[in-house]
Amino acid sequence: MKYGAIEAGGTKFICAVSNEKLEILERISIPTTTPNKTMDSVFKFFDKYKLEAIGVGSFGPIDVNKKSKTYGYITTTPKLAWTNYNFVGYLKDRYNIPIGWTTDVNAAALGEFENGAAMDVQSCVYLTIGTGIGGGAVINGQLLKGYSHPEMGHILVRMYPNDIRKGVCPYHNDCLEGMASGFAIEERWGKKAYELKDNEEVWKMEAFYIAQAVMTYTLILSPERIILGGGVMKQLKLFPLIRKELKQLMGEYVSMPSLDEYIVSPGLGDNSAIIGCLLLAQKTS
Ligand code: ADP
Ligand code: ZN
Repeated sequence: MKYGAIEAGGTKFICAVSNEKLEILERISIPTTTPNKTMDSVFKFFDKYKLEAIGVGSFGPIDVNKKSKTYGYITTTPKLAWTNYNFVGYLKDRYNIPIGWTTDVNAAALGEFENGAAMDVQSCVYLTIGTGIGGGAVINGQLLKGYSHPEMGHILVRMYPNDIRKGVCPYHNDCLEGMASGFAIEERWGKKAYELKDNEEVWKMEAFYIAQAVMTYTLILSPERIILGGGVMKQLKLFPLIRKELKQLMGEYVSMPSLDEYIVSPGLGDNSAIIGCLLLAQKTS
C-alpha cells in the first residue's frame, strides 16, 4: 500500500510517496511555475505508482468547504497563474483515488501533532514565519476549520515604537505578515533576513510582533503547544526573545505552561508539512 503527498508551496512543490508505515520511498522538488508545467512534473512523478490516496497541503487561500462548488480550488492567490485552479479536480481526473486537501500549514500542524513536537498533547498551533506568515491548528485531534481555514498570518498587531508604518501585505498593509514576514524584514532593512543576524534591533522587533501573535492564538485557542517554523525561525535566538516578550504581554492574567515547553521548534525539521500530507492521505483513504 502506498500513499502520495504534495506540499504545494509558492516557490516549490515537494512530492513524496510512502509505504503504509509512512516511510518515504521517493521524493522530488519541483519549481512552482505555471499550473500546466508544474502539474506535468507532478503527474510524471506519481504515474509510476499505484497509490491508495494523495494528501495535498497547498498554499492558499484555498476552498476547503466540502459543500462549496469550488471545493478543492486554490482561490484568490496573488500567484495569478494559480487563481481559481481546480487542484483536487485535476488530481481526481487523473488518478480517481481519494484526495486529502488542506492548507500547507494545516498539514504541517498535523505532521507535528501526530509525529513531531506535539505528539504528547491534544492540541497545537503551527506557525511558519517564512517569506510570508501562515498558521494552522489541530484542536482535540482535528484540523481546525470553519466556513474556511484559519489565516493566522493576517491578524492585526500593535506597531513597534517608531517602526515604519508601511507593511508588505497588499491586503492589510500592517498585519502580522505585513510587519514580520521574511519579506517584511528584508523590505524594512534592505538586506536578506539571514544577513541581519547580528543586528539586535531586528530580532527584538521581530519577537515583539511574533509574541503578540502567540498571545492572540493562546487567548483564543488555548492550545497546548505552539510550534514556530519557517526560515526566519532558523534564528534560534528568537525563541527566548519571544518567550520573554510574551510573558510581559500576558502579565499574570492567565496561568501558562512552562514557556520553554510551550513555544518550540518543529520536531520534524523541514518535513512537518510533507509528513502531514502523508498522514492526510492515510486518513482520507
Ligand atoms: P518560504 O516561506 O518561501 O517557503 P522559508 O520558510 O525558507 O521559505 O522562508 C524564507 C524566508 O526566511 C526568507 O525571507 C529568508 O530570508 C528567511 N530565512 C531563511 N534562512 C534564514 C536564517 N537562517 N535566518 C533568518 N532568516 C532566514
Ligand atoms: Zn495581511
